[in-house]
Amino acid sequence: MSPRDGAHDVIIVGGSFAGLSAALQLARARRRLLLIDAGKPRNRFAATSHGFLGQDGVPPARIMREGLSQLARYPSVDFIHDEALAAARDGPLLRLELAGGAAVAARKLILATGVADELPLESMIPRWGVSVLHCPYCHGYEVRDRPLAVIANAPAAIHQALILPDWGPTTYFSQGRFTPSDEEAALLAARGVRIDPVPVVELLGTSPHLEALRLADGRLVEVGAVFTAPRTRMASALPEQLGCSVVEGATGPVIAVDALQQTSVPGVFAAGDAAMQMYNATLAAAAGVMAGVAAHRSLVMDEAGAIATAA
Ligand SMILES: Cc1cc2nc3c(=O)[nH]c(=O)nc-3n(C[C@H](O)[C@H](O)[C@H](O)COP(=O)(O)OP(=O)(O)OC[C@H]3O[C@@H](n4cnc5c(N)ncnc54)[C@H](O)[C@@H]3O)c2cc1C
Repeated sequence: MSPRDGAHDVIIVGGSFAGLSAALQLARARRRLLLIDAGKPRNRFAATSHGFLGQDGVPPARIMREGLSQLARYPSVDFIHDEALAAARDGPLLRLELAGGAAVAARKLILATGVADELPLESMIPRWGVSVLHCPYCHGYEVRDRPLAVIANAPAAIHQALILPDWGPTTYFSQGRFTPSDEEAALLAARGVRIDPVPVVELLGTSPHLEALRLADGRLVEVGAVFTAPRTRMASALPEQLGCSVVEGATGPVIAVDALQQTSVPGVFAAGDAAMQMYNATLAAAAGVMAGVAAHRSLVMDEAGAIATAA
């Protein structure tokens, strides 16, 4: 696939679960589509992806390769492996500048750019996606029956600690910041979760594996895996450049969208982790489908409206 001259109907920035799913709908609607992707999906640190129908246990990179190769069969699709650095509205068009120097334009834009994780402890970084995990539904089964820890980094950590005993014996480390209320402490106790208020300061063991946690009071606690909710930020500056409204999600800002994935900026849609509060590949793909269909519908209504007005 190679880009052609002139404006596309739709540009999609981000070619992972959300962007590829949006692209498939538009490709099948035979619209001129440009997909731009920098190749850094959020789950690239994990060896396998779980819970995605038909792809359970498959490496994330293979899912993306297959998605892209199926998309490439549609003749109206162009693909550029690059990073979009700047975006702005120019009359009826949305114009983008790419790191490689190309300038591209389209009538509609879908942002499927994802989020980036900011891990609270440095010793978590080399273990991310292997023994430091964000979601028990994604990777809990693989660490089942090991001693598990939740290292709290957001209020939602208490919810994570409440569900985690279904995978293994759980300790909730409040880090001295996310102390459970009496009611929450009673629920955690009912689930057999131990609560430790002393902050975890370091993860120990041969990286990327994990053997123990070092606490601020010097204790070592044996664990097999840690669950934590990193602070997230937009992976791309494009939503901000375009003036998209954001709302504060559970772990960081997310693009505000309506039920059709339309942002506050007309003609700009957003889908996937960048525009939702629960981070999951299936949900990102579903939102991408909606964004693709909504962008198509928006093109159709613009075209029909213009013809009806001229008649
Ligand atoms: C370690 C880890 C493991 C996970 N495991 C699972 C799992 O097993 N099952 C599950 O359901 N969920 C899992 N998740 C969650 C899942 O990864 C996300 O929900 C999903 O990747 C979101 O898809 P997305 O398309 O919105 O964004 P992403 O997958 O993050 O993709 C965004 C894409 O946009 C590109 N991009 C961003 N900005 C630009 C730009 N300016 N120009 C060009 N390209 C750009 C990026 O390079 C990237 O390719 C995991 C998450 C993590 C962190």
